[in-house]
Amino acid sequence: MITPLMPTYARNPIAFERGEGMYLFDTEGKKYLDFYSGIGVMSMGHSHPTMVKALQEQGAKLWHTANGFTIPEGERLATRLTDACAADTIFFGNSGAEAIECAIKMVRKYHHDKGDKGRYRIVTMASAFHGRTLAGIAAAGQEKLTKGFEPLPDGFDVVPFNDLEAVKAAIGPNTGGIMVEPVQGEGGIRPIPVETMQALRAICDENGLLLVVDEIQCGMGRTGKLFAYEWSGIEPDIITAAKGIGGGFPLGACMATEEAASGMVVGTHGSTYGGNPLAMAVGNAVLDEMFKPSFFDHVIEMGDMLHGRLAALQQRHSDMISEVRGKGLMAGIRVPDIPTRDIVGDLIGRGMIPAVAGDMVVRMLPPLILDESHIEEAINHLDASLTAFRDKK
Ligand SMILES: *Cc1c(COP(=O)(O)O)cnc(C)c1O
Repeated sequence: MITPLMPTYARNPIAFERGEGMYLFDTEGKKYLDFYSGIGVMSMGHSHPTMVKALQEQGAKLWHTANGFTIPEGERLATRLTDACAADTIFFGNSGAEAIECAIKMVRKYHHDKGDKGRYRIVTMASAFHGRTLAGIAAAGQEKLTKGFEPLPDGFDVVPFNDLEAVKAAIGPNTGGIMVEPVQGEGGIRPIPVETMQALRAICDENGLLLVVDEIQCGMGRTGKLFAYEWSGIEPDIITAAKGIGGGFPLGACMATEEAASGMVVGTHGSTYGGNPLAMAVGNAVLDEMFKPSFFDHVIEMGDMLHGRLAALQQRHSDMISEVRGKGLMAGIRVPDIPTRDIVGDLIGRGMIPAVAGDMVVRMLPPLILDESHIEEAINHLDASLTAFRDKK
């Protein structure tokens, strides 16, 4: 018999009752170090006082009005974000998938309004993840996402990861944009090299294409900058954000330059819930913390420390860890000989929660507020787990 909750997830039987900072507590009272953050969402950790206060205060005042009325909290959040990045304007939705959908529509509308109606195609990279809508799975193109859901929306040309020649070869008269994750998340924590990001910008400029960066996982401070594209010094035309942007409240954002958004006039796009006062209050609370002086310095420092400790771990377990990957607090170790789910399951049993990523990678996306002691604790768990797997062999 089918379960009341549609069985689309392989759920661990553990249920959590509460969270506090870097830790989760299950219904039996057991404590876990959270290096997962609910897929990079809980950027400020659990039950952060600023976040709790914002939600409670707004919750007692006003939740939702719909977008036919002015939402001052949303204007404030959009102003703060656009002041801090390449975008001039933001559409708020409720998830990453919706942010991607808006980005795809915007690319098409941009060329349509310029009189280039045929330029609807978008070049994407293999092993990408762009959400679970029909357009999102078509954009990622991976069979594990698309199988059985055909026919898929047309308009995506998937090229091998980080292959500039393939990108150039894929561009034709119908191409309107290029969409990439500056650091691939689900695909296995793969950063696109800075030089490639710069080359993609140049290719877009030469061909009149819009560059879309999917920062849903790698953005909002995760790599030590507000957005990961900043490391390459380029400016994209469209940025998608979600996950960390709401600190646990469902929120997504499609952000664009004035030029890229020129076709998004009244009536072209919308959402009932998107950017409601409750979401906007919590989004502003995330920025209250993230825009404190030295917040990003802390993320960079902790990221460097984590990668240093993971490199040392790799030396101790060079027979098991083939690679340490990532940027800032988006890290992964590739362990090719052990099923990733087994390692993750073992670590959860030891009281640490990591995540699975593609390409045999154990993924780590801790809350951005961690300190050195949490990195030590995580490394000790990883060390013990890998040692136990070796002893079992
Ligand atoms: C999670 C994710 C999405 C989809 O976001 P949802 O909120 O799950 O719809 C899209 N792109 C990237 C890079 C992601 O990590």
